[in-house]
Amino acid sequence: MARIVIIGSGASGLPAAHELAESARPGEQITVVSGQSTFRAGSATPWLSARDSTGFDLARNLGRKGVDFSAAGARRLDPGRNQLELADGQRLDYDILVIAAGPQPAFDEIPGLGPEGYTHSLCHADHLHGCVQDWNRFIAEPGPIVVGAVQGASCFAPAYESAFLMDAELRQHALRERVPMTFVTAEPYVGHLGVDGIGESRERIAAALRERDIAWIANAHVDRVESGVMHVTEHAAGGRAARQHALPFRYSMMMPPFRGIDAVAGIEGLANERGFILVDDCLRNPRYRNIYAAGATVASAACAAAGEHKTAYMIDAMVNAVARNIRDQLDGREPEARPTWNPVRVADLGAAGLAFVADPEGALQPAHGAGAGDWVHMSRCSACDVGSVPGSPEAKPIHLR
Ligand SMILES: Cc1cc2nc3c(=O)[nH]c(=O)nc-3n(C[C@H](O)[C@H](O)[C@H](O)COP(=O)(O)OP(=O)(O)OC[C@H]3O[C@@H](n4cnc5c(N)ncnc54)[C@H](O)[C@@H]3O)c2cc1C
Repeated sequence: MARIVIIGSGASGLPAAHELAESARPGEQITVVSGQSTFRAGSATPWLSARDSTGFDLARNLGRKGVDFSAAGARRLDPGRNQLELADGQRLDYDILVIAAGPQPAFDEIPGLGPEGYTHSLCHADHLHGCVQDWNRFIAEPGPIVVGAVQGASCFAPAYESAFLMDAELRQHALRERVPMTFVTAEPYVGHLGVDGIGESRERIAAALRERDIAWIANAHVDRVESGVMHVTEHAAGGRAARQHALPFRYSMMMPPFRGIDAVAGIEGLANERGFILVDDCLRNPRYRNIYAAGATVASAACAAAGEHKTAYMIDAMVNAVARNIRDQLDGREPEARPTWNPVRVADLGAAGLAFVADPEGALQPAHGAGAGDWVHMSRCSACDVGSVPGSPEAKPIHLR
């Protein structure tokens, strides 16, 4: 009977395992290989305190559905042999493989970037501790902030959210006037979001930054980061380097560039030059027809500086299509399910929020546009089950600490 292996247990790997388990025939074996033994909600990271209450045990969760689990991590894929080598030396044979290993932060591509250098990152729950500790020191001794997303990043909403949440937190401490803030982004303009804007995202985000007195540099290339200084080249339209900046900072959070996992790097026909998985409309690799991909690891046509951001709504549609296609392939039918590509972005602005919806296929209302207000903040908090709703009886302020 068929052996299905899923690499990754995040926003796409975990639901893929559950959906495949729902439709599994007796004797079919599903195994999830992850790099971690606990699930943590990555999308909640802008709010999470060092006390992380959102994790749960993956082996137990998947075991209830009859899904096998290994936290050893994938070391190398051999798609010619249908075999996956794990970091503990074990080799797993598969009939169908789903790659759902997410985006890997590539801090090493910019000198001084990342938790081992001089900037913070929200991309992984493990990075949060240093982020929060340093923020507490910063509150005691404030100075300039540089926040944003570097070239090769494909996830911009957390950068904007961080900027707005920092602004809100500083105002609560009556410190905002002592903290010059600069938003640095590789996006061609603020509000581009990796998809050339959605509705009025350009105007709305620019207005929100202006209202909060946050300066910005768009079309930026971060050259290097030194202790307390970020060196940035600002480009003019057309890609010409127009201006150099040396931005002093006391606190910085920058979304990094992303790439795929090492286990697939350089496999001709499977991964592109950055290790993202090549797929057809049915999320199936064109060369290795028993390999599917879902989530942020899927290669997409990205603009030169900014990769395309895949949101949870898109991921949900991808997982659904992959599960249906795998069932069809195993049952001898031609896979035909295609995901809908509805970018829905919801950004928290501290006590309020902005939501952008682009729904070319018409399943959502409004089909294209922007909304704003407290409801966005509330929906973000409740969706992530952290923080609280302002004004509610149990309301507690949401702090970065
Ligand atoms: C800070 C942040 C906030 C975000 N906020 C939102 C949001 O609010 N709304 C939204 O829609 N989208 C958001 N996104 C974008 C996107 O929805 C998330 O990144 C989402 O988690 C991507 O899902 P994924 O399954 O592709 O990757 P992930 O959820 O990152 O999962 C990847 C999995 O692969 C595993 N893995 C990695 N390497 C290996 C290996 N070698 N072997 C085996 N397993 C491996 C990891 O352990 C993990 O389980 C956010 C992204 C970030 C970074």
